[in-house]
Amino acid sequence: MYKLRGHHLFCLLGFRGMGYSKEYVENMTRLHQELRNNPKTLILLIEGPDQLCEKYPNSGDYHCQDNHIYEKDAAILTKLGLRIGETLCWEDIESRIQRYVEPSDIHIICKNCSWRQYGVCEEGIQEIVEGKGLREVE
Ligand code: SF4
Repeated sequence: MYKLRGHHLFCLLGFRGMGYSKEYVENMTRLHQELRNNPKTLILLIEGPDQLCEKYPNSGDYHCQDNHIYEKDAAILTKLGLRIGETLCWEDIESRIQRYVEPSDIHIICKNCSWRQYGVCEEGIQEIVEGKGLREVE
């Protein structure tokens, strides 16, 4: 079982192998591949820094405890009809994305994120909505 905060449920959709450091990317790639290969993998929704935040590089501007990041976590969980403390499998998260999320939601919920400009997160949502699942990271 993995422990994830709300906004990382969306970040995983747009993950293309980019990230804050080599270690951060390796950690996220492992999780991404596991979810892609085993959609029944369980996810516990937690508040605050999670297993991806753990690998945030010491050299970077640590934002994982910033209020606006907590607000983004909450907005995404609300959008999906989920709450902190719930456990569900990745394929159920994908089903909820299909039901409740549109690619353009990224512009509102993630308006402060520097990764938004690449367009990969909207693309990732679109692919989930179309039933394609997570894209393979090369
Ligand atoms: S725009 Fe930023 S916070 Fe939003 S899903 Fe993409 S990487 Fe995550």
